Amino acid sequence: MTGPKQFHNPEEIVSSSPGLRVTRYPGSCALPFATPTGLCPRSSSQPQPLRGDVGRLIPRVARSSQPWALRRNPFGIQGSIFWMRLAFACVFINSIARAEAVPTGPGIKHAHIAGRECVRLADWGKAQGLEMRWIKRDESFEFRGNGKRLSFTTNSREIEIAGVRLWLLFPLVAQNGDIYIAQQDVQTTIQPVLTPSRNSRGAKINTICLDPGHGGKDPGERAAGNVEKQYTLLLAEELRGQLTRAGLKTVLTRTTDTFIELPTRPELAKRRGADLFVSLHFNSIDTSRDSVKGAEVYCLTPSGAPSTNAQGEGGGGWCIGNRDNDRNMLLAYEIQKALGQIQAVEDRGVRRARFAVLRDATMPAVLVEGGFMSHPIEGRKILTPGYRRQLARAIAEGVLSYKKIVERG
Ligand SMILES: [Zn+2]
Repeated sequence: MTGPKQFHNPEEIVSSSPGLRVTRYPGSCALPFATPTGLCPRSSSQPQPLRGDVGRLIPRVARSSQPWALRRNPFGIQGSIFWMRLAFACVFINSIARAEAVPTGPGIKHAHIAGRECVRLADWGKAQGLEMRWIKRDESFEFRGNGKRLSFTTNSREIEIAGVRLWLLFPLVAQNGDIYIAQQDVQTTIQPVLTPSRNSRGAKINTICLDPGHGGKDPGERAAGNVEKQYTLLLAEELRGQLTRAGLKTVLTRTTDTFIELPTRPELAKRRGADLFVSLHFNSIDTSRDSVKGAEVYCLTPSGAPSTNAQGEGGGGWCIGNRDNDRNMLLAYEIQKALGQIQAVEDRGVRRARFAVLRDATMPAVLVEGGFMSHPIEGRKILTPGYRRQLARAIAEGVLSYKKIVERG
Protein backbone atom coordinates (compact mmCIF):
# COMPACT_ATOMS: atom_id res chain seq x y z
CA MET A 1 0.00 0.00 0.00
CA THR A 2 1.16 3.52 -0.65
CA GLY A 3 -0.89 5.51 1.79
CA PRO A 4 -1.09 9.26 2.22
CA LYS A 5 1.72 9.17 4.76
CA GLN A 6 5.17 8.81 3.26
CA PHE A 7 7.68 7.40 5.72
CA HIS A 8 11.16 8.84 5.69
CA ASN A 9 12.55 5.36 5.95
CA PRO A 10 10.16 2.63 4.85
CA GLU A 11 11.72 0.20 7.26
CA GLU A 12 11.07 2.39 10.28
CA ILE A 13 9.19 0.89 13.18
CA VAL A 14 5.68 2.30 13.26
CA SER A 15 4.38 0.45 16.27
CA SER A 16 5.63 -2.19 18.62
CA SER A 17 4.68 -4.48 21.43
CA PRO A 18 6.96 -6.65 23.58
CA GLY A 19 8.82 -9.08 21.38
CA LEU A 20 7.10 -7.89 18.23
CA ARG A 21 8.28 -5.42 15.63
CA VAL A 22 5.82 -4.00 13.11
CA THR A 23 7.36 -2.52 10.02
CA ARG A 24 5.67 -0.71 7.18
CA TYR A 25 6.79 -0.25 3.59
CA PRO A 26 5.04 2.25 1.35
CA GLY A 27 4.52 0.94 -2.17
CA SER A 28 3.22 -2.43 -1.15
CA CYS A 29 0.03 -3.72 0.37
CA ALA A 30 1.88 -6.57 1.99
CA LEU A 31 2.49 -4.86 5.29
CA PRO A 32 2.36 -4.21 8.18
CA PHE A 33 4.42 -7.34 8.55
CA ALA A 34 5.20 -8.38 12.09
CA THR A 35 8.19 -10.43 13.07
CA PRO A 36 9.66 -11.44 16.40
CA THR A 37 12.25 -8.85 17.35
CA GLY A 38 15.76 -10.02 16.66
CA LEU A 39 14.80 -12.61 14.03
CA CYS A 40 16.43 -10.58 11.32
CA PRO A 41 18.84 -8.20 13.09
CA ARG A 42 19.42 -4.90 11.35
CA SER A 43 22.98 -3.90 10.82
CA SER A 44 24.77 -0.73 9.85
CA SER A 45 23.22 1.24 7.03
CA GLN A 46 26.51 0.91 5.17
CA PRO A 47 26.38 -1.71 2.41
CA GLN A 48 28.39 -4.79 3.23
CA PRO A 49 30.14 -7.05 0.73
CA LEU A 50 28.67 -10.51 0.30
CA ARG A 51 31.74 -12.16 1.74
CA GLY A 52 30.69 -10.72 5.12
CA ASP A 53 27.76 -13.13 5.06
CA VAL A 54 30.09 -16.08 4.75
CA GLY A 55 32.43 -14.56 7.31
CA ARG A 56 29.70 -14.38 9.92
CA LEU A 57 28.73 -17.99 9.35
CA ILE A 58 32.08 -19.73 9.18
CA PRO A 59 33.37 -18.79 12.66
CA ARG A 60 30.19 -20.24 14.19
CA VAL A 61 30.85 -23.55 12.46
CA ALA A 62 34.51 -23.42 13.38
CA ARG A 63 33.67 -22.76 17.03
CA SER A 64 31.30 -25.70 17.16
CA SER A 65 33.82 -28.03 15.53
CA GLN A 66 36.25 -28.15 18.45
CA PRO A 67 37.63 -31.72 18.47
CA TRP A 68 36.75 -32.31 22.13
CA ALA A 69 33.06 -31.75 21.41
CA LEU A 70 33.02 -34.49 18.79
CA ARG A 71 35.31 -36.88 20.68
CA ARG A 72 32.99 -36.78 23.68
CA ASN A 73 29.93 -37.90 21.75
CA PRO A 74 29.77 -37.44 17.98
CA PHE A 75 26.13 -38.54 17.90
CA GLY A 76 25.00 -36.66 21.02
CA ILE A 77 23.51 -33.18 21.23
CA GLN A 78 26.89 -31.47 20.67
CA GLY A 79 27.56 -33.67 17.66
CA SER A 80 24.08 -33.10 16.24
CA ILE A 81 24.45 -29.34 16.50
CA PHE A 82 27.81 -29.58 14.77
CA TRP A 83 26.48 -31.67 11.88
CA MET A 84 23.42 -29.42 11.52
CA ARG A 85 25.62 -26.34 11.36
CA LEU A 86 28.00 -28.01 8.94
CA ALA A 87 25.12 -29.04 6.65
CA PHE A 88 23.70 -25.52 6.78
CA ALA A 89 27.12 -24.05 6.00
CA CYS A 90 27.54 -26.40 3.02
CA VAL A 91 24.13 -25.44 1.60
CA PHE A 92 24.87 -21.76 2.18
CA ILE A 93 28.33 -21.86 0.62
CA ASN A 94 26.84 -23.76 -2.33
CA SER A 95 24.33 -20.95 -2.86
CA ILE A 96 27.13 -18.36 -2.77
CA ALA A 97 29.16 -20.40 -5.25
CA ARG A 98 26.07 -20.70 -7.48
CA ALA A 99 26.06 -16.94 -8.04
CA GLU A 100 28.58 -16.09 -10.73
CA ALA A 101 31.60 -14.19 -9.52
CA VAL A 102 32.23 -10.68 -10.79
CA PRO A 103 34.86 -11.02 -13.54
CA THR A 104 38.37 -10.01 -12.55
CA GLY A 105 41.53 -9.55 -14.57
CA PRO A 106 43.84 -6.89 -15.95
CA GLY A 107 41.13 -5.43 -18.21
CA ILE A 108 38.49 -5.16 -15.47
CA LYS A 109 38.67 -1.96 -13.45
CA HIS A 110 37.30 -2.01 -9.92
CA ALA A 111 36.78 1.00 -7.65
CA HIS A 112 35.53 1.74 -4.15
CA ILE A 113 32.86 4.42 -4.62
CA ALA A 114 30.36 5.79 -2.08
CA GLY A 115 31.33 3.10 0.41
CA ARG A 116 30.83 0.13 -1.89
CA GLU A 117 32.79 -2.05 -4.27
CA CYS A 118 32.06 -1.18 -7.90
CA VAL A 119 33.14 -2.43 -11.30
CA ARG A 120 33.49 -0.42 -14.52
CA LEU A 121 30.39 -1.31 -16.50
CA ALA A 122 32.08 -1.25 -19.92
CA ASP A 123 34.68 -3.79 -18.72
CA TRP A 124 32.01 -6.04 -17.27
CA GLY A 125 30.04 -5.91 -20.54
CA LYS A 126 33.14 -6.75 -22.58
CA ALA A 127 33.86 -9.75 -20.36
CA GLN A 128 30.30 -10.95 -21.06
CA GLY A 129 30.79 -10.56 -24.82
CA LEU A 130 28.39 -7.59 -24.93
CA GLU A 131 28.84 -4.46 -26.97
CA MET A 132 27.94 -1.08 -25.48
CA ARG A 133 26.35 1.77 -27.42
CA TRP A 134 24.77 5.04 -26.38
CA ILE A 135 21.05 5.47 -27.04
CA LYS A 136 21.16 9.08 -25.87
CA ARG A 137 24.63 10.45 -25.16
CA ASP A 138 25.39 10.66 -21.41
CA GLU A 139 21.82 9.64 -20.55
CA SER A 140 20.96 6.13 -21.69
CA PHE A 141 22.86 3.24 -23.24
CA GLU A 142 22.53 -0.45 -23.90
CA PHE A 143 24.58 -3.63 -24.12
CA ARG A 144 23.87 -6.19 -26.83
CA GLY A 145 25.39 -9.51 -27.79
CA ASN A 146 24.83 -13.28 -27.66
CA GLY A 147 21.09 -12.69 -28.01
CA LYS A 148 21.06 -10.56 -24.85
CA ARG A 149 19.98 -6.95 -24.42
CA LEU A 150 20.39 -4.74 -21.35
CA SER A 151 19.33 -1.08 -21.15
CA PHE A 152 20.69 1.36 -18.56
CA THR A 153 20.13 4.97 -17.60
CA THR A 154 22.96 6.95 -16.01
CA ASN A 155 22.49 7.98 -12.36
CA SER A 156 19.50 5.65 -12.16
CA ARG A 157 18.57 2.38 -10.54
CA GLU A 158 16.18 1.43 -13.32
CA ILE A 159 17.34 -1.08 -15.94
CA GLU A 160 15.79 -3.44 -18.47
CA ILE A 161 16.91 -6.94 -19.31
CA ALA A 162 15.32 -8.16 -22.55
CA GLY A 163 12.67 -5.47 -22.15
CA VAL A 164 11.75 -6.43 -18.56
CA ARG A 165 12.12 -3.75 -15.92
CA LEU A 166 14.28 -4.26 -12.81
CA TRP A 167 15.48 -1.95 -10.06
CA LEU A 168 19.15 -2.01 -9.11
CA LEU A 169 20.09 -1.88 -5.43
CA PHE A 170 22.26 1.19 -6.08
CA PRO A 171 22.26 3.79 -8.89
CA LEU A 172 25.01 3.69 -11.49
CA VAL A 173 27.85 6.09 -10.68
CA ALA A 174 29.85 8.19 -13.16
CA GLN A 175 33.51 8.80 -12.27
CA ASN A 176 36.17 10.35 -14.52
CA GLY A 177 34.06 9.72 -17.61
CA ASP A 178 33.45 6.05 -16.77
CA ILE A 179 30.26 4.44 -15.48
CA TYR A 180 30.45 2.08 -12.53
CA ILE A 181 27.97 -0.43 -11.17
CA ALA A 182 27.91 -1.86 -7.64
CA GLN A 183 29.48 -5.29 -7.50
CA GLN A 184 26.55 -6.46 -5.37
CA ASP A 185 24.18 -5.57 -8.23
CA VAL A 186 26.26 -7.52 -10.73
CA GLN A 187 26.17 -10.56 -8.43
CA THR A 188 22.59 -10.45 -7.17
CA THR A 189 20.58 -8.49 -9.75
CA ILE A 190 22.05 -8.98 -13.23
CA GLN A 191 24.02 -12.22 -13.40
CA PRO A 192 21.33 -14.42 -11.77
CA VAL A 193 19.11 -13.45 -14.74
CA LEU A 194 21.72 -13.21 -17.49
CA THR A 195 23.73 -16.34 -16.67
CA PRO A 196 21.61 -18.51 -14.34
CA SER A 197 23.25 -21.68 -13.12
CA ARG A 198 21.62 -25.11 -13.19
CA ASN A 199 20.33 -26.87 -10.10
CA SER A 200 23.01 -29.05 -8.60
CA ARG A 201 22.70 -32.83 -8.76
CA GLY A 202 19.64 -32.63 -11.03
CA ALA A 203 17.36 -31.30 -8.26
CA LYS A 204 13.82 -30.78 -9.60
CA ILE A 205 11.14 -28.19 -8.91
CA ASN A 206 8.09 -30.23 -7.95
CA THR A 207 6.10 -28.48 -5.21
CA ILE A 208 5.01 -24.83 -5.21
CA CYS A 209 3.68 -23.18 -2.06
CA LEU A 210 1.07 -20.51 -2.85
CA ASP A 211 0.47 -17.93 -0.13
CA PRO A 212 -2.78 -15.94 -0.52
CA GLY A 213 -2.04 -12.70 1.33
CA HIS A 214 -3.94 -11.65 4.48
CA GLY A 215 -7.10 -13.48 5.68
CA GLY A 216 -9.41 -13.57 8.70
CA LYS A 217 -9.02 -10.45 10.87
CA ASP A 218 -6.47 -9.05 8.38
CA PRO A 219 -8.42 -7.88 5.30
CA GLY A 220 -5.44 -6.34 3.49
CA GLU A 221 -6.30 -3.49 1.14
CA ARG A 222 -9.81 -2.12 0.78
CA ALA A 223 -11.06 -0.41 -2.36
CA ALA A 224 -14.68 0.46 -3.17
CA GLY A 225 -15.93 -1.98 -0.54
CA ASN A 226 -13.81 -4.88 -1.81
CA VAL A 227 -11.18 -6.50 0.38
CA GLU A 228 -7.85 -7.81 -0.84
CA LYS A 229 -7.91 -11.05 1.19
CA GLN A 230 -10.85 -12.35 -0.87
CA TYR A 231 -9.15 -11.81 -4.23
CA THR A 232 -5.73 -13.14 -3.21
CA LEU A 233 -7.45 -16.41 -2.25
CA LEU A 234 -9.39 -16.54 -5.52
CA LEU A 235 -6.16 -15.91 -7.45
CA ALA A 236 -4.37 -18.65 -5.49
CA GLU A 237 -7.17 -21.14 -6.26
CA GLU A 238 -7.00 -20.31 -9.98
CA LEU A 239 -3.20 -20.58 -9.94
CA ARG A 240 -3.34 -23.90 -8.08
CA GLY A 241 -5.53 -25.30 -10.87
CA GLN A 242 -3.18 -24.12 -13.59
CA LEU A 243 -0.02 -25.41 -11.90
CA THR A 244 -1.69 -28.76 -11.17
CA ARG A 245 -2.66 -29.11 -14.83
CA ALA A 246 0.98 -28.38 -15.71
CA GLY A 247 2.03 -31.36 -13.57
CA LEU A 248 3.23 -29.54 -10.46
CA LYS A 249 2.20 -30.21 -6.87
CA THR A 250 0.86 -27.23 -4.93
CA VAL A 251 0.26 -26.41 -1.28
CA LEU A 252 -1.63 -23.35 -0.01
CA THR A 253 -0.90 -21.53 3.24
CA ARG A 254 -4.66 -20.99 3.59
CA THR A 255 -7.70 -22.28 1.72
CA THR A 256 -10.33 -20.37 3.71
CA ASP A 257 -10.79 -16.87 5.14
CA THR A 258 -8.40 -17.57 8.03
CA PHE A 259 -5.79 -15.42 9.73
CA ILE A 260 -2.32 -16.95 9.44
CA GLU A 261 0.63 -15.37 11.26
CA LEU A 262 3.34 -14.20 8.87
CA PRO A 263 6.18 -16.41 10.21
CA THR A 264 3.85 -19.43 9.96
CA ARG A 265 3.51 -19.04 6.18
CA PRO A 266 7.11 -19.83 5.08
CA GLU A 267 7.33 -22.33 7.95
CA LEU A 268 4.34 -24.18 6.49
CA ALA A 269 6.02 -24.17 3.06
CA LYS A 270 9.12 -25.71 4.60
CA ARG A 271 7.15 -28.39 6.47
CA ARG A 272 5.32 -29.37 3.28
CA GLY A 273 8.58 -29.68 1.33
CA ALA A 274 7.90 -26.81 -1.10
CA ASP A 275 10.59 -26.00 -3.65
CA LEU A 276 9.29 -22.46 -4.31
CA PHE A 277 7.21 -19.95 -2.31
CA VAL A 278 4.90 -17.49 -4.11
CA SER A 279 3.00 -14.94 -2.00
CA LEU A 280 0.02 -13.30 -3.73
CA HIS A 281 -1.19 -9.75 -3.08
CA PHE A 282 -2.95 -6.80 -4.67
CA ASN A 283 -1.88 -3.19 -4.28
CA SER A 284 -3.75 -0.01 -3.46
CA ILE A 285 -2.96 3.68 -3.19
CA ASP A 286 -4.78 6.73 -1.86
CA THR A 287 -7.48 8.18 -4.09
CA SER A 288 -5.42 11.25 -5.02
CA ARG A 289 -3.06 8.95 -6.94
CA ASP A 290 -5.53 6.47 -8.39
CA SER A 291 -3.87 6.61 -11.83
CA VAL A 292 -1.11 4.32 -10.49
CA LYS A 293 -1.47 0.81 -11.89
CA GLY A 294 0.52 -2.25 -12.92
CA ALA A 295 2.11 -5.41 -11.60
CA GLU A 296 5.34 -5.76 -9.65
CA VAL A 297 7.21 -8.70 -8.15
CA TYR A 298 9.30 -8.41 -5.00
CA CYS A 299 12.24 -10.53 -3.92
CA LEU A 300 14.33 -10.24 -0.77
CA THR A 301 16.82 -7.37 -0.48
CA PRO A 302 20.40 -8.69 -0.24
CA SER A 303 22.26 -8.18 3.02
CA GLY A 304 23.42 -4.61 3.65
CA ALA A 305 21.60 -3.11 0.64
CA PRO A 306 18.61 -0.73 0.67
CA SER A 307 15.17 -1.94 -0.42
CA THR A 308 13.69 -0.47 -3.61
CA ASN A 309 11.25 1.82 -1.81
CA ALA A 310 13.81 2.95 0.77
CA GLN A 311 15.13 5.79 -1.42
CA GLY A 312 18.66 4.50 -1.04
CA GLU A 313 18.55 4.48 2.74
CA GLY A 314 18.86 1.71 5.24
CA GLY A 315 20.26 -1.76 5.02
CA GLY A 316 19.42 -4.93 6.89
CA GLY A 317 21.43 -7.88 8.06
CA TRP A 318 21.54 -11.35 6.62
CA CYS A 319 18.37 -13.46 6.77
CA ILE A 320 17.83 -17.11 5.85
CA GLY A 321 16.07 -15.97 2.66
CA ASN A 322 19.35 -14.38 1.49
CA ARG A 323 20.72 -17.88 1.01
CA ASP A 324 18.78 -17.92 -2.28
CA ASN A 325 19.56 -14.37 -3.49
CA ASP A 326 20.27 -15.51 -7.05
CA ARG A 327 17.26 -17.83 -7.30
CA ASN A 328 14.92 -15.26 -5.71
CA MET A 329 15.88 -12.79 -8.43
CA LEU A 330 15.56 -15.30 -11.28
CA LEU A 331 12.08 -16.39 -10.12
CA ALA A 332 10.94 -12.77 -9.69
CA TYR A 333 12.28 -11.88 -13.15
CA GLU A 334 10.57 -14.79 -14.92
CA ILE A 335 7.21 -14.00 -13.28
CA GLN A 336 7.54 -10.26 -13.97
CA LYS A 337 8.40 -11.03 -17.60
CA ALA A 338 5.26 -13.14 -18.01
CA LEU A 339 3.02 -10.59 -16.24
CA GLY A 340 4.32 -7.90 -18.59
CA GLN A 341 2.97 -9.90 -21.55
CA ILE A 342 -0.63 -9.38 -20.41
CA GLN A 343 -2.19 -6.66 -22.48
CA ALA A 344 -2.53 -3.32 -20.69
CA VAL A 345 -0.61 -4.51 -17.61
CA GLU A 346 2.04 -1.93 -16.79
CA ASP A 347 5.47 -3.38 -15.93
CA ARG A 348 6.39 -1.83 -12.56
CA GLY A 349 9.49 -3.99 -12.40
CA VAL A 350 11.22 -6.46 -10.12
CA ARG A 351 11.70 -4.78 -6.74
CA ARG A 352 13.38 -5.54 -3.43
CA ALA A 353 11.90 -5.61 0.05
CA ARG A 354 12.47 -7.31 3.39
CA PHE A 355 8.94 -8.62 3.82
CA ALA A 356 8.68 -11.15 6.65
CA VAL A 357 7.55 -13.98 4.37
CA LEU A 358 10.58 -13.43 2.11
CA ARG A 359 13.05 -13.09 5.00
CA ASP A 360 12.03 -16.38 6.57
CA ALA A 361 11.64 -18.49 3.42
CA THR A 362 14.01 -21.45 3.20
CA MET A 363 13.39 -21.88 -0.54
CA PRO A 364 13.41 -19.36 -3.43
CA ALA A 365 10.57 -16.94 -2.69
CA VAL A 366 8.78 -13.98 -4.27
CA LEU A 367 5.83 -11.72 -3.48
CA VAL A 368 3.60 -10.83 -6.43
CA GLU A 369 1.56 -7.61 -6.39
CA GLY A 370 -0.93 -8.42 -9.15
CA GLY A 371 -2.29 -4.91 -9.71
CA PHE A 372 -3.88 -1.88 -8.05
CA MET A 373 -7.35 -2.34 -6.58
CA SER A 374 -7.48 1.46 -6.29
CA HIS A 375 -7.18 2.04 -10.06
CA PRO A 376 -10.62 2.68 -11.61
CA ILE A 377 -10.10 0.19 -14.47
CA GLU A 378 -7.50 -2.25 -13.13
CA GLY A 379 -9.39 -2.41 -9.83
CA ARG A 380 -12.57 -3.56 -11.60
CA LYS A 381 -10.63 -6.13 -13.66
CA ILE A 382 -9.17 -7.73 -10.51
CA LEU A 383 -12.73 -8.55 -9.43
CA THR A 384 -13.35 -10.60 -12.59
CA PRO A 385 -12.49 -14.33 -12.91
CA GLY A 386 -11.29 -13.81 -16.50
CA TYR A 387 -8.63 -11.29 -15.53
CA ARG A 388 -7.48 -13.34 -12.54
CA ARG A 389 -7.17 -16.31 -14.93
CA GLN A 390 -4.82 -14.21 -17.08
CA LEU A 391 -2.78 -13.24 -14.02
CA ALA A 392 -2.61 -16.87 -12.86
CA ARG A 393 -1.58 -18.02 -16.34
CA ALA A 394 1.28 -15.50 -16.35
CA ILE A 395 2.48 -16.46 -12.86
CA ALA A 396 2.33 -20.16 -13.80
CA GLU A 397 4.25 -19.41 -16.99
CA GLY A 398 6.92 -17.62 -14.95
CA VAL A 399 7.21 -20.56 -12.55
CA LEU A 400 7.46 -23.06 -15.42
CA SER A 401 10.03 -20.93 -17.21
CA TYR A 402 12.11 -20.78 -14.00
CA LYS A 403 11.81 -24.55 -13.63
CA LYS A 404 12.97 -25.09 -17.20
CA ILE A 405 16.00 -22.82 -16.73
CA VAL A 406 17.27 -24.34 -13.48
CA GLU A 407 16.58 -27.94 -14.53
CA ARG A 408 18.15 -27.66 -17.98
CA GLY A 409 20.56 -30.45 -18.83
ZN1 LIG B 1 -1.45 -7.50 0.51
